[in-house]
Amino acid sequence: MDKGTIERARRVLHEAGHILLLTHERPDGDALGSLLGMAWMLQATGRRVSAVSRDGVPASFRFLPGSESVLDALPAAADVCLLLDCSDANRVGEFATALPCPASVNIDHHVTNTHFAEVNLVDAEASATAEVVCELAEALGLALSPQAATCLLTGLVSDTLGFRTSNVGLRTMANTRQLMEAGANLPAIVEASLYRRSFAATRYWAAGLARLQREDTLVWTALSLADRAAAGYPGRDDADLINILSTIEGTAVAVMFVEQDLERTKVSWRARNGADVSALAARFGGGGHPAAAGATVQGTLDDVQARVIAATREWLRAHTPALPGGG
Ligand code: AMP
Ligand code: MN
Ligand code: MN
Repeated sequence: MDKGTIERARRVLHEAGHILLLTHERPDGDALGSLLGMAWMLQATGRRVSAVSRDGVPASFRFLPGSESVLDALPAAADVCLLLDCSDANRVGEFATALPCPASVNIDHHVTNTHFAEVNLVDAEASATAEVVCELAEALGLALSPQAATCLLTGLVSDTLGFRTSNVGLRTMANTRQLMEAGANLPAIVEASLYRRSFAATRYWAAGLARLQREDTLVWTALSLADRAAAGYPGRDDADLINILSTIEGTAVAVMFVEQDLERTKVSWRARNGADVSALAARFGGGGHPAAAGATVQGTLDDVQARVIAATREWLRAHTPALPGGG
């Protein structure tokens, strides 16, 4: 992060009395961890802070300190609007068109980020938005309380799938050490964010796993609104089933479809072995990282599944290196 951008962020935040923090819909651990980590640190400077998540805080993240203070509606007014873990302003869902102030600060780590705000703190090499927040805190002299450290380390642990992704290196480990020194409990966070699953989520997985499909190195499945209702799963996401699909031996790309309503389907892609699916997601109006990308696509579950699998199949054909000695 260059000094000029950090100074501009300092100025914008310094002048604000009431700061509105927002994160993306269907929030993950990095979305909520960076949202709450930033909220704790700004609150400690005496500012009024409203932390907003369009889909609230799923039960699986209620262990995060401060999660009970997260709002699922916008306040009527705020001086500064800060978006976390959002590659474009539409990631906040319906709230995008109703913000009480223009997007002032954008803190993110997606390679597809559109630099939509007045100040853009975007680092595509960071393993999580929480990592960008952690380093920003140091640059701005914000104090890391044990609560803030717990939230930020949850962001790091979740987005790296427990330090397993290829963007993990000494930088992430140095930030992890700093967060642990500030009071975050690593084993407890790993346990709570990666190894706890509700019975309903597990039944929801069963529905998706029952109709798992494979074609060469492409693996996919779908979850419908009926599956959600039958399992009693409350979220609009895939309960992280995609991360299981991508562990299947011989998989180059895994794709997950989640029915949102009769007109919209959420698509997730995961790539193995260095393939980059972020551009493929961008073609469907979404974005993300080289190895993990998503999009919300107009159309029914069946229609979107057919179109996306056809495009992904084509894309794989064009991007798969020929086998040595092949004709
Ligand atoms: P997901 O498939 O939702 O787990 O998301 C994988 C990655 O893609 C994450 O980094 C998301 O932030 C990003 N992503 C998911 N959906 C979208 C979208 N509609 N637009 C842009 N980025 C997205
Ligand atoms: Mn996220
Ligand atoms: Mn993230």
